[in-house]
Amino acid sequence: MHEFRFDRVALPASVEALRQDVRDFIAEQRAAGTMPMRHNSWHRFDADFSRQCGLRGYIGMTWPKRYGGQEKTKLERFVVTEELLAAGGPLGAHWVADRQSGHQILAHGTEAARQAILPRIAAGECFIGIGMSEPDTGSDLAAVKTRGTPVEGGWRVNGTKVWTSNAHRAHYLIALVRTAAPTEDRHAGLSQFIVDLSKPGVTVRPVVNLYGSHDFNEVVFEDHFVPDEMVLGQIGGGWKTVGGELVYERAGPDRFMSTYQTLLESMRVLGPDVDDRAACALGRIVAHLATVRRMSTSIAGMLEAGREPNVEAALVKDIGTTLEREIPEVFRDLIAVEPSMGDGSRFSELLGMSTLRSPGFTLRGGTREILRGVIARGLGLR
Ligand SMILES: Cc1cc2nc3c(=O)[nH]c(=O)nc-3n(C[C@H](O)[C@H](O)[C@H](O)COP(=O)(O)OP(=O)(O)OC[C@H]3O[C@@H](n4cnc5c(N)ncnc54)[C@H](O)[C@@H]3O)c2cc1C
Repeated sequence: MHEFRFDRVALPASVEALRQDVRDFIAEQRAAGTMPMRHNSWHRFDADFSRQCGLRGYIGMTWPKRYGGQEKTKLERFVVTEELLAAGGPLGAHWVADRQSGHQILAHGTEAARQAILPRIAAGECFIGIGMSEPDTGSDLAAVKTRGTPVEGGWRVNGTKVWTSNAHRAHYLIALVRTAAPTEDRHAGLSQFIVDLSKPGVTVRPVVNLYGSHDFNEVVFEDHFVPDEMVLGQIGGGWKTVGGELVYERAGPDRFMSTYQTLLESMRVLGPDVDDRAACALGRIVAHLATVRRMSTSIAGMLEAGREPNVEAALVKDIGTTLEREIPEVFRDLIAVEPSMGDGSRFSELLGMSTLRSPGFTLRGGTREILRGVIARGLGLR
């Protein structure tokens, strides 16, 4: 049975020092007008802001210098991303590449892929999407049907991905593809490919979300060619590599800070003299936030130690996304303001955004039910 251990990770002084560096950066960006106070931080696509982050050394921070990295620790990265998220920085362009794709390429990519892609990600000039879900395959990822067939020098890819965030503005996708017919072992015969979205045989079509914006897409592959040098890891080893990617996807501060701006603004609107009901609700939210943050830093510590805490990551995502969904509900109840779509006060806009986007928080990156299944398996209950 899995034993959960969320060690208390003390952030060393050198790590805390970085916090001030990020705050200085944010102040500079605000002064220059390049970072307006916005909601939807890590989903908000702003290529110019990503380039500024790249120039400052805030992308690919943990990677080797020869690939454009800074050779910083996972805890240092944690502090930088946490500060940027707390300030509502528009991190969406580079977010996936920095959070997970770059690690995949570093850990499993060919030398050619590392050299071609990682320095551009670190510079904030190369953006990557996640090609896992398909029209009939979301939670049951092993059922993907996009097919890779071997050809001279690489693979021919056919199939459809869906809900692919930013595919219309990313340079690459990391796609999970079936490269051998299914057998009794459903997890065998899968592989991960780096797909160059600028090459022929890829059609990207918009899917407009509940909020009315075009963030995700349907991506159709028709005889799209992927060269051997763009295969991640071993052919047939995709289930293992995609599992490693999900740890990075699930347990960072982005999984509990999507509505952080709404929380801050709610506290500002409520003011210092709150009644007992509001004090109680606020205290509960802040205490939960502190706890989930501690769990998330603990995961950064485990990753730094070379562990693969996938059960713990599932737990953090489940608790964290439940909290970020709860924040707008709680304050909607406490503050008599109508949510709006940008034509009201800042609070009303944040409330409108949070309310319409929050159903997606517990879907993207693995639904609650699936995460609880992972946790239950870890506990030996299934
Ligand atoms: C904002 C947003 C962005 C996204 N971006 C991306 C992206 O960039 N790339 C990408 O690949 N995907 C992306 N997704 C897709 C996301 O990963 C899937 O929506 C998710 O994995 C669920 O898959 P599904 O939508 O097919 O739902 P289903 O798998 O069809 O699930 C439907 C419901 O059934 C439940 N369910 C399914 N199986 C079980 C089970 N075994 N036990 C109990 N309950 C079960 C689920 O929990 C869910 O409530 C995004 C989704 C959202 C909302």
